[in-house]
Amino acid sequence: MMLPAAITSDELFMKTLERTLTIVKPDAVRRNAIGDIIEQFEKRGFRILAMKMLEISKHQAEHFYAVHAHKSFFNSLTDFMSSGPIVALALEKENAIADLRQLMGATNPASAEEGTIRKKWGSSIERNAIHGSDADDTARFELSFFFAGYELAQ
Ligand code: UDP
Ligand code: MG
Repeated sequence: MMLPAAITSDELFMKTLERTLTIVKPDAVRRNAIGDIIEQFEKRGFRILAMKMLEISKHQAEHFYAVHAHKSFFNSLTDFMSSGPIVALALEKENAIADLRQLMGATNPASAEEGTIRKKWGSSIERNAIHGSDADDTARFELSFFFAGYELAQ
């Protein structure tokens, strides 16, 4: 393949350092899975930039999941996400957004691949143990939802 002179093949395949937002959901916290899930992040090379355990209100859950406001599962999802403690983490790694989605597995744990967090800890399409940002722009919104600038300045 001919490449424009200004772009080397190295640059084409270069990975960029990315940040993403993950949440250990209330079902996984209840099942004592926090430690196991964090261990998997570290073993896969994600750097933990910031982390907090908290509970969010129904209203805060509706704001976080606003993109799903028109979906049939929105009311139940936001009840669930505000039903108990969660752990929010800001993670950094090359290709973090896609790599986290891969480590999480499919939304429905029943169809998630072996070795994924949702396969191991998820119990239903709603109670699927973990959240992960799905793109650059959603990662930015979701990181700033849970963390202030000073908490990510490292
Ligand atoms: N969800 C649900 N029912 C569905 C689809 C999704 O309860 O049919 C919940 C589930 O907890 C999921 C979240 O809504 O993680 C957000 O849905 P999305 O399609 O963004 O899935 P994700 O990006 O989390 O894999
Ligand atoms: Mg999503």
